Amino acid sequence: MNYYSLNNPNHNVNFKEAVIAGLAPDRGLYFPETIPTLSDEFIAHIEDYTAEEIAYRVIAPYVGTCIPEKELRQIISETLCFDFPCVPVHDAVYSLELYHGPTLAFKDVGARFMSRCLGYFNQNTTQKSTVLVATSGDTGGAVANGFLGVKGVDVVILYPSGKVSDIQERQLTTLGQNIRALEVQGVFDDCQDMVKSAFLDDDLKALGLTSANSINVARWLPQMFYYFFAWQQIKKHHNELVISCPSGNFGNICAGLLAKKMGLPIAHFMAATNVNDTVPEFLQTGRYTAKPSQPTLSNAMDVGNPSNFVRIQALYDNNREALLNDFSSFAYTDAQTREVMVALYEQTGYIAEPHGAVGYLGLQQVLQKHPEAVGLFLETAHPVKFLEEVESTLNIKLPIPESIAQLMAREKVKTSIATYADLKSYLLSS
Ligand SMILES: *Cc1c(COP(=O)(O)O)cnc(C)c1O
Repeated sequence: MNYYSLNNPNHNVNFKEAVIAGLAPDRGLYFPETIPTLSDEFIAHIEDYTAEEIAYRVIAPYVGTCIPEKELRQIISETLCFDFPCVPVHDAVYSLELYHGPTLAFKDVGARFMSRCLGYFNQNTTQKSTVLVATSGDTGGAVANGFLGVKGVDVVILYPSGKVSDIQERQLTTLGQNIRALEVQGVFDDCQDMVKSAFLDDDLKALGLTSANSINVARWLPQMFYYFFAWQQIKKHHNELVISCPSGNFGNICAGLLAKKMGLPIAHFMAATNVNDTVPEFLQTGRYTAKPSQPTLSNAMDVGNPSNFVRIQALYDNNREALLNDFSSFAYTDAQTREVMVALYEQTGYIAEPHGAVGYLGLQQVLQKHPEAVGLFLETAHPVKFLEEVESTLNIKLPIPESIAQLMAREKVKTSIATYADLKSYLLSS
C-alpha cells in the first residue's frame, strides 16, 4: 500500500515513509492510494474474532510489507491492552466508552500504535527522531504516555496556556525522561501552526522531526478499530446502526468513514462539534472558512481548521452531495452541553463528560431521521478528566482513580514560549 499527498497525487511513499515524515514535503496530508475492502464473510461473522484479530485484518493492508506479521501482531497486542465496551444508556442508545486506556481518553490507541511503529522503524538506526506534537487537550497525554521510554525518540509537546484542564496538563508535564512540554502563549491553532512550520524548516532537518498528531497515518488509521469493535457488540440487534462522534480535528470520524468504505455497514455518521463549527457551516453553505478556535467546555475539540476534513472530502471525491448521504455535522453550545449532561444523568444515571455529551446531542439529532436505528455515541474521555466541570454541572462527587491521584502529586515541568522563533531556538539548543 502506498500513500499520496493530498496536494500532489504524484508524490508516493510507503507506510514507513509516511509515518516517519508525518506530513508530505508539500504540506499535504498522506492518503491511501486504494481503499481495501474486507470480505462480507468477515463482517457477517465478526463476533467469531478476537479484538486483536479484527485489528490485524483491518490494519494489515495499510501497513503492507513495512512491518512483518509477527511484529505487527505484537504492536497490536500492546496497543489494545484495555476494553472498548458499548454501554446501554437508554432505549436503543449506547455509549461506546473509549476511555479505559492509560490516559483515560480515546487517543491512547492511536498514540500507542504509532509509538510502537516508530520504535520498530528506529530499532536499527542511530538516527534519532523527534516527535513534535500540538495538543488541544488529550493528545499530549496520550502521546507522552505512549512514547515514554521508547528508544531513539524524543517527544516535544506544545499546548495552549490555560486552555487545558489541570489533569491534562499534569499528564504531559510530569513524566520526564524523553518527554518535554512547551506551554504556548496562544490558542491551539497557534500550536498547530508552529508545528507545521517546524516541519518545513530546513534548519531543523537534523532533528528528524515527525508528527504524532492525527495527521500522522499511524495515529489516524488505528482509530478504525473502534467502529469494528462497536459493530461486533451491536450487530446482534439486527437494526441499522448510526454513530455520533464528538469531533475536533475530525481524525476519529474520518477513520469511521474509512471503515465504512472498507465494508462496515454503518448507516450514518454524525460529526458533533462545539461552537467551533467550520464543518457544520461548510455542509450548510458549501463554503469552507477556517476560523480562529474558540475555547469551550469540550476543549479537546476547540479546532477552527480541522486538519482531517480534507481526508473526508478525498474519501468522497470532493463530492458534497455524496458526502451528505453518509455524513452530517452539527454544532452545539456549552449551554446545550451542560443541559444534556444533567438530563442524561437525571433520567438514566449515566455520567457523560462534555465531549461525550456533545456526541449524545448529535446522536439525538441523527436519530430523528433514523428512528428505527440503534444509536451509538462515542464517549471519548473519562468524566474524571473534566472533574470540576462534571462535578459542578451534575452536583456530584466523582471517585478519583488511583492513576490520577498519583498524577496530582507530581510536579509540572514546562517551558513557556510565545513565537515560532522561540520554538526554533528551543529545539536547536536542546
Ligand atoms: C481529540 C478528542 C476529540 C476529537 O477527536 P478528533 O479526532 O480530533 O475529531 C474528542 N474528544 C476527546 C476527549 C478528545 O481528546
